[in-house]
Parts: sequence; structure tokens; C-alpha cells
Amino acid sequence: MKQTGLVWFNHDLRVHDNPVLLEASLHCERLICLFCIDPAWFKPTGLNARPMGENRLRFLKQSLQDLSQQLAERGQSLIVLKGNPVSVISDLISRFDVNVVYRSHHIGVYENRHWQHLRLDFPRLQFESVWSHTVFRSEHLPFELDDLPSSFSQFRTKVEQLSIDAPVSMPARFAPPVDTLCKQSEKVVIEQKKTDAFVGGETAALMHLDSYFSSTSPANYKETRNALDGWSTSTKFSPWLANGNLSVRKLLQRLRQYEVEELSNESTYWILFEVLWREYFQWVALKLGHRLFRAQGLSKTKPNCCFYPERYQKWCHGNTPYPLVNALMKQLNTTGYMSNRGRQIVASCLVNELELDWRFGAAYFEQQLLDYDVASNWGNWQYIAGVGMDPRGGRHFNIDKQTRQFDPDGRFVRQWHGEVSSSQLDSVDAADWPILPDNSK
Ligand SMILES: Cc1cc2nc3c(=O)[nH]c(=O)nc-3n(C[C@H](O)[C@H](O)[C@H](O)COP(=O)(O)OP(=O)(O)OC[C@H]3O[C@@H](n4cnc5c(N)ncnc54)[C@H](O)[C@@H]3O)c2cc1C
Repeated sequence: MKQTGLVWFNHDLRVHDNPVLLEASLHCERLICLFCIDPAWFKPTGLNARPMGENRLRFLKQSLQDLSQQLAERGQSLIVLKGNPVSVISDLISRFDVNVVYRSHHIGVYENRHWQHLRLDFPRLQFESVWSHTVFRSEHLPFELDDLPSSFSQFRTKVEQLSIDAPVSMPARFAPPVDTLCKQSEKVVIEQKKTDAFVGGETAALMHLDSYFSSTSPANYKETRNALDGWSTSTKFSPWLANGNLSVRKLLQRLRQYEVEELSNESTYWILFEVLWREYFQWVALKLGHRLFRAQGLSKTKPNCCFYPERYQKWCHGNTPYPLVNALMKQLNTTGYMSNRGRQIVASCLVNELELDWRFGAAYFEQQLLDYDVASNWGNWQYIAGVGMDPRGGRHFNIDKQTRQFDPDGRFVRQWHGEVSSSQLDSVDAADWPILPDNSK
């Protein structure tokens, strides 16, 4: 029987080191390469944000256009269809006698729900889910998921010495597409803003990989990684990793090459260290399932917080009484990116100064971040809110101290117009009485 495979692309938008595509191409005589644009991404969730904001969508479309080009060069064609993935895929399975459905393994509860749904609807079909987003495959880990270490340090110690699979080599041409389908693909219309620092797609990702490791930046990473700004202070791989434009194993292979050919020091080790944080959060998310999104996370009780719509709006728009927080949020809203230290500061502010439910902050980040990754985002937020895996409790960053340390001359705050328009956090008091301006000063 002629094998027709359907490759459901998701967070693996690349042709290099893509074991899903390789497997499908080896075993099928014709292939449907599909990406689904799910209308649910554009609807507000219960946490007041839309999963896919404007900047994220632009980066995604750039990635799709590049993937389409890469596939075309190898005899394939990307079909982009709008609709609920279960309906879209079910329809294609029936119309084109699909025998096997492939995807990259996803740790997201929502994405897995779609996958399970399809498996139940088509019990006789073959479904193949392949690891491509993580450094390790589950069977490589030296412990069962139930025994995942409860702290990052223990996790790191256990996995650091494991050997890492080399990226898989890809064929020059893939199995051919189903011709009649190509005409039905959505046209991906790309807009690129002149100010975009990040451009989606594996071409841009591989260029950045090369340029980063051709520079001296890796040698100083540990000293510069906490800076609030600057292209070369940290690696800036995250948006490409999150969308799968860059394979994490390819990144680690390049890092190793730099260490062998150029230099190996504490900074180059620290890049691996941070990539292992990403890895840890992936397995944490897989273990926690729905608990990753619960207010109380792994704690027995919910954090003491309330929902103040005005404070939340002020935080989102960068209009709080804290200039550094304002500047950081404006940077995020404009560029879709914020440094790690910046993220820690604004997240701590939302939880501690504004006393808001951390999940609203996480949902807003999901909408805005180019590098949104379900595991890294919700895992880091849980960590700051003190409801995650780490037993040491939450993190409270002193905003004044952080400002003195990371923006001593106020340059960052001025650049992003973080100046405070009102030092008042709320315009009414707890009993809804308006708060009058203090004229005594
Ligand atoms: C509240 C909060 C939310 C976050 N949300 C996300 C998210 O949605 N997606 C995301 O990729 N990262 C997230 N991070 C982690 C981190 O801030 C970014 O990965 C990092 O800032 C990206 O910039 P970079 O590539 O230059 O990082 P580098 O400092 O150069 O690090 C190299 C790589 O290591 C990984 N990494 C570094 N720090 C972390 C970390 N703390 N957790 C997980 N991975 C890490 C990233 O893949 C990164 O690309 C979040 C952090 C916080 C505090």
C-alpha cells in the first residue's frame, strides 16, 4: 500500500536536525507538510490576554515563509490552513487516505489534548510523536519522570555528563507532496517592521548562530548576561529555539566546537548551564501537566493575592510608580523581547509590589514574547511566585537596588520612556473612595 504521511509542524519550524521530517520522509511515499493556524490563539483567554500577540504572529509568519522556502528547495511544499487542528487534520486524513500522522513531541497540555483527540477519533491510524524540542529524549534521562529532581541543581548534576545526540543529517530531497492540496494553502503575508531585531525562520537563526560563535561574545557571556539591553550581552537564541527555527542540539554542537577550536571558560560553560535550565523546565512542565497553570502550583495553598484591574493595566502598559518596570514593559511591548533580569524584575513587581495573581502576568508574557515557550514561561513564573518545584520559595527583587545596579545612569529608563506619570498605584482606595492628590508637598 502507498504510504501517505502527514507531518504536523508546530514548534519545529526547520528542516535541519528535524527527526520528525526525516522519519516521515524515510517511511512515506508522499507527504503532507501542514501548519495549522488555530483561531483560538487570537481569542482572549480567562486570564485577559490573547495567546498570540502581534509581534509573536509576525515572527511566526516569517518562520513559516522561510520553512516554506526550505521545503520547496527539497521538493516539498508547506500547507498552511486556518482552523481547529483536530478538524483540519481529520479532514485531510479522510480526503487523502493518510496512513501515518507525525509531529514533534509537545509538552503543552493544550497541544496534547488535540493529539489525544485525533488518536481517539482514528484508532486504526498510526501516530508518531518524536522528540525534537529538548536536548534529551525521555528514555535518555537517568530517572523516571515521577522522580524528576525537585531542584535545578540536582537535575543538572544528573544530566550534565550525559552524551548529547548529534543533530540528524537530512536528505537533499523529501518525499513528494500531495499536489492537489498545495493550491488550498493560506498565503502567508509577511510584514517586517524596520525596527525588528529578530527575524523569524531557520535562515536567520543559522546566520545568528554563526555570527554569535564567530564573535568574542561567548567568552564573556557570564559577565554580561544579566544586562538589561544590548544585542551581544546574552545569546538571543530564545525566539528561534522556541519556534524550533534552531535545534537545541545544533546549538550545543556549535558551542562545543567553539570550546574546542576557540576557547573554553566559565562563560562558555554558563551557556550550557542556561540551556539546561530550559531543559529542566521542559521536563517539569511534562511532569506537572495542568498543575503548571494552577494559581497554587505545587503549593498546598494559593498565594495571597487579589485581582486589581487598574494595577494590571498599569503593569501591562508600563505606567506603574516604578520607572524601571515601566521601561522594561515598554521594551517588551515594542520589541517582543526582554532580558532575563528584566523578566525577573517585572514578574517580581507584579507578584510582590502589585500583589496580583502571577498567572495574569504569565498570560500577558505568552501574548507578547517572541520566544514564548509554554514550559519556560509558566515554569519561570511559578518559580518567581514561589509555587514551583524549587523548595526555597518565591523571589522578591528590590526594584531600587536593581535600578542602581543595572541602570545606574538611567539610560535604559530614558530610552524606553519609563518616567512615572503618577506615583499613585491605585486611583481609588479599598472602599472605592477616590485618592486625592497630595498637595502638601
Ligand atoms: C518570568 C519569566 C518568563 C520567561 N519566559 C520565557 C519564555 O517564554 N521562553 C523562553 O525561552 N524563556 C523564558 N524565560 C527565560 C529567559 O528569560 C529567556 O530564555 C532569556 O532571557 C532569553 O534570552 P537569551 O536567548 O539571550 O538567553 P541566554 O541568557 O543567552 O540563555 C541561553 C538560552 O538558555 C535558555 N534560558 C536562559 N535562561 C533561562 C531560564 N531562566 N529559563 C529557561 N530557559 C532559559 C534559553 O533558551 C536561552 O536562549 C523567562 C524568564 C522569566 C524570569
